[in-house]
Amino acid sequence: MRNIPYSHQSIDANDIRKVAEALKSDWITQGPKVREFEESLAGYCGARFAVAFSSGTAALHAAYSAAGLSNEHEIITSPITFLATANSSLFLGARPVFVDIEANTGNINPLLIDQAITEQTKAIVPVHFSGHPVELDEIGKIAKKYSLLLIEDACHALGAKYKNTTIGDCRYSDMVIFSFHPVKSITTGEGGAVLTNNEEFCNKLIMFRHHGITKDRKIFQNKSDAVGEWYHEMQCLGYNYRLTDIHSALGISQLRKIDRFIQRRREIVEAYAEAFRDNEFFDTPVEKSYAKSAWHLYPIRLKDKYKRTKAEIFAKLRERGLGVQVHYIPVYLQPYYQQLDYKRGLCPNAEDFYQREISIPIYPAMTDEDVNYVIETIFSVFKKI
Ligand SMILES: *Cc1c(COP(=O)(O)O)cnc(C)c1O
Repeated sequence: MRNIPYSHQSIDANDIRKVAEALKSDWITQGPKVREFEESLAGYCGARFAVAFSSGTAALHAAYSAAGLSNEHEIITSPITFLATANSSLFLGARPVFVDIEANTGNINPLLIDQAITEQTKAIVPVHFSGHPVELDEIGKIAKKYSLLLIEDACHALGAKYKNTTIGDCRYSDMVIFSFHPVKSITTGEGGAVLTNNEEFCNKLIMFRHHGITKDRKIFQNKSDAVGEWYHEMQCLGYNYRLTDIHSALGISQLRKIDRFIQRRREIVEAYAEAFRDNEFFDTPVEKSYAKSAWHLYPIRLKDKYKRTKAEIFAKLRERGLGVQVHYIPVYLQPYYQQLDYKRGLCPNAEDFYQREISIPIYPAMTDEDVNYVIETIFSVFKKI
């Protein structure tokens, strides 16, 4: 029996050599590698600035803070996401407002955003679920119309394209967040980044990452005190959210392979699409004509007849060595959110999606034999249900 997780990092000898080199250098935190990683990331995506963080969650927290989010505000986001998208707004006292999803992509439904906007709304935070871009053009128009910020949670979507633009270029949005957790498109172990074309946001992000401190003379508030080279200013309350040179060295090396990684994911998608076409058990994920997904996940959705037996199917797949997962339990159904007074039934499509969804293995290091094993195992499990 094979053991195939739903996702896994791909680390090669070159990655290891680059990390070893960083370890032998004079800087192991906050050296030249952080800057180099940020520059390659901004270059790859086509954004002006990239600011690296110790995790995707730290990056979200920083982006929301730079956006000026406070306890007077709300953000609009999707319930089908990792908890951090919503939690990070709670860090600042702002309330997440959940808008229901489209059943086929699992992405926020742009048509339902208007009616969720209130006087308190500060930002729309769509999530490119599974790596499939949301309708950025449409959502961007809504943000403009109501003067809201648009912040993309692109933690699944490094390497994805929207209408021939690269996710991360900030063409439609104010900031874009990535995560480099081992299951994502590339990894730094733990790590994240915010991309932006706005210099003011960039300065705020850099300060937030390092205790609210700036050493940039151009933006000092007390010009007269800035007499010596020791002088620095703490202008806001920040954190230690820095990424290290060790992590960044891995990130630089990983980013060089991103196109190959995405290409391999696409090959696996093609094999799955071929094998699972018109099957009687579940629906396969779609890729809309405007989108090139990064295929972070391969979310299958059980048909009506199998919806109620999901737990049994899931357990049997795990027994046979497939490390399947479920993405996600709608955020507001978590006990912590229930206690904040979000009602069950709030987003019916999201709750239905949760009852059907299973993420089957997809990651670049899967061999053709792994892919065939997944396909055969899935058919054999479903046929016995
Ligand atoms: C992974 C992820 C995050 C958080 O990233 P970490 O690096 O694990 O902190 C946020 N949002 C989404 C959608 C994610 O998948």
